[in-house]
Amino acid sequence: MNSPSTVVAVTTSPLAKESPDVVRLTDVRRNFGKTAALDGVSLSVRKGEILGIIGRSGAGKSTLIRCLNGLERPDSGSVEIEGRDITGLSEQQLQPLRRKIGMIFQHFNLLSAKTVEENVALPLKIEGLPKAARLKRAAELLDLVGLSDKAKAYPSSLSGGQKQRVGIARALAGRPALLLSDEATSALDPETTHAILALLKDINRKLDLTILLITHEMEVVRTIADRVAVIDGGRIIEEGAVWSVFSDPQNDTTKSLLNTIRPRLPEHIAQRLSQTPVGEAVLSVDLAGPEANTPLFADLSAHLPNSFRLIHGGIDHIQEQPVARFFIGVTDPARLDPVLQFLKGRSARVEVLGYDARSL
Ligand code: ADP
Repeated sequence: MNSPSTVVAVTTSPLAKESPDVVRLTDVRRNFGKTAALDGVSLSVRKGEILGIIGRSGAGKSTLIRCLNGLERPDSGSVEIEGRDITGLSEQQLQPLRRKIGMIFQHFNLLSAKTVEENVALPLKIEGLPKAARLKRAAELLDLVGLSDKAKAYPSSLSGGQKQRVGIARALAGRPALLLSDEATSALDPETTHAILALLKDINRKLDLTILLITHEMEVVRTIADRVAVIDGGRIIEEGAVWSVFSDPQNDTTKSLLNTIRPRLPEHIAQRLSQTPVGEAVLSVDLAGPEANTPLFADLSAHLPNSFRLIHGGIDHIQEQPVARFFIGVTDPARLDPVLQFLKGRSARVEVLGYDARSL
């Protein structure tokens, strides 16, 4: 069992404790002139796990991917794939290791002059597999991604979602230890994105495939990842189980990245808030895990009748864990402390965001 002290890994998944690391980066640094694209990244991905890496543009995501597939050499630190450090390997030594990594891309990267089955079989041709074996494997893979009827079609006749299915089938042809997804759903509409994510999750379960996905779409991570790492300025600034990080982000960059998918105080109310304690106190109330399943507000109403009103919010479910975020208003100043005490007593994270004088 692996328990490296240098690798940051926080997760509640039982899988995490039992599975070996497929990928392990230790203190990886890569500078371009004065820019530290990777500034001491330590990260691990365990067998069968889906790790999402999120970060703004320029955070270091592409450099991280290139270090993983050997296209970029770190200045220092180690990159291990299935326990083997690839940082010192020659181009020739890297070739068989690259086959252990399947990649899918935003723009699919299919060969337009080749049919779907030829695209899927291409990595096997490069490996030297006989034609009959290649086509048999391509047929299996097209079946896996639900595209058996398109084997003889050309990419130009396919929709974006179908093209990505071909991309996934091709990435799996060499039975990789790791699937690297580089913004693979960024060019797809929401419905197609959802179908591709469902397919990736299905393959992850069926094949126990390890997936590392790099994305700027929080929804992608929310939907299929087990764990998330946030990269900023070449450093991993936050990492943990997706439900845990998404329900209680610690870092301002993480908070701002998650703004698109967490309930936010409606803008017209946020603009009216002042720190002067006059008017209705507006509170954010965050809860995750079992406590989020309790009738918190019904209980608060019973305990302190007419003490608050619900303004905005809701309950999400991430990795089957309820994650609740609400905004409430308390008009009577004498009720504010009792409300805060009650909510804190129920393990909620409560913050007074400000006061809305217009409600007077
Ligand atoms: P991301 O993929 O998150 O947008 P990158 O890994 O592409 O981030 O870039 C991280 C930082 O490193 C950026 O400041 C970028 O300008 C710089 N960088 C990346 N590749 C190069 C390069 N080949 N030459 C010079 N600077 C680079």
